[in-house]
Amino acid sequence: MKYFIEVWGCQMNEHDAETLGGLIEKKGFTKADNYNDAQLIVLHTCCIRAKAEDKVIGRIGALSKLKKKRPEMIIAVGGCMTQQEEVAKYIEKRFDKVDIIYGTHNLNEFDNLLSTVMENKSQVKSISDADQMDIREYIPITRNDKLKAFVNIIYGCNNYCSYCIVPYVRGREKSREIAYIVEEVKELLDSGFKDITLLGQNVNSYGKDFKDETNFSMLLKELDRLGDYRLRFMSSHPRDFDLELVDTIKNTKNVCHQIHLPLQSGSDKIIKEMNRGYTKEHYLALTEYIYKVMPEATISTDIIVGFPGETENDFLDTMDVVENVGYDQAYMFMYSIREGTRAAKMENQVPEETKKERFHRLLELQKKKSLERNSEMQGKIYEVLVEGLGEKNRLTGRTRGNKVINFKGDISLEGELVMVKVTDYNTWSLYGELIGE
Ligand code: SF4
Repeated sequence: MKYFIEVWGCQMNEHDAETLGGLIEKKGFTKADNYNDAQLIVLHTCCIRAKAEDKVIGRIGALSKLKKKRPEMIIAVGGCMTQQEEVAKYIEKRFDKVDIIYGTHNLNEFDNLLSTVMENKSQVKSISDADQMDIREYIPITRNDKLKAFVNIIYGCNNYCSYCIVPYVRGREKSREIAYIVEEVKELLDSGFKDITLLGQNVNSYGKDFKDETNFSMLLKELDRLGDYRLRFMSSHPRDFDLELVDTIKNTKNVCHQIHLPLQSGSDKIIKEMNRGYTKEHYLALTEYIYKVMPEATISTDIIVGFPGETENDFLDTMDVVENVGYDQAYMFMYSIREGTRAAKMENQVPEETKKERFHRLLELQKKKSLERNSEMQGKIYEVLVEGLGEKNRLTGRTRGNKVINFKGDISLEGELVMVKVTDYNTWSLYGELIGE
């Protein structure tokens, strides 16, 4: 029996799909390369934007038709989209060919849900309250990569940014015990992984729910003792990113000086409306301190253009931060209404044309900054983890700053740390030559 998982959304969802894979393979299934070869098809969904949901509904419709020809197929739909009760009810009512409907916290019991369906041949639905997260440890995980791995450290989010649906579908913050995280990272290093990314909606809140001295800096120091490897983390929240953490990153040997720090907006008025809890000045002081302590650090961000009430001056504040910080990379989005969030009910929604026009100005500025950042790397030598073959049969890999670099070399170097001198660059890529090989 074979299975196929299609996943939408963020890194947390990608890693959820690895957990689902582990539970399904425990039941004797093996991975299929596509829908047509699979008896079990899982749609692991995202609901950050309405568009993502529309795609899933379309996919369910197509699979339901396919199942008429292949009645032995099992269709499962789950994750953030079905965590919303009204959506789960809609799928249950409209698509009787769907066999399993599960919530964000119920993927941990997927193996049991699958057994029930295979025995009873009837539809099962399991959706716990978003705030009732029971962390299940020692779940088998099928890793999609052999060098880089994700490790969950905290689930959910308490921030309730006014445009975001995540707290409603992933619930309140719940941290994993340090011992389990250390054990998982140790196992990964023992089995040859070289690049570990700690995952959470807001990793900087790690340990706060323990109500003791546990915090994110403490976890990083603990993990730093486990050997020589690359340790990364995402996502961070500027309000919870203190200077102690910057110093911790600086003083560890494994934590990469690569920071993803979502700004969303540079205008204090809009940041307040977004319920983000910091100011432009605070954000700039933080990035200034990061560059002072770690001059070679790379910083990336998320920005929303056209949030309700955003004026030209508010937008210029955002442009000013982008100009000032000089991000290596920015994920830029035009605000779109997400039903169920506070911002969806806000007045002064910005016209689409205005959003588009601002988005393109921001994109042009960021392209200029990315090019500037890459030009500063010209002629310098970087440690690169070789990930495999990239464009034009050259090797590709990443620096500790998570910058992609392409260079000539033998595939036998895959998985190795090599030194590469940057010889050329463009906005999104770097090119180099191997040093000393
Ligand atoms: S920090 Fe804000 S944007 Fe990020 S997941 Fe939490 S509520 Fe959403």
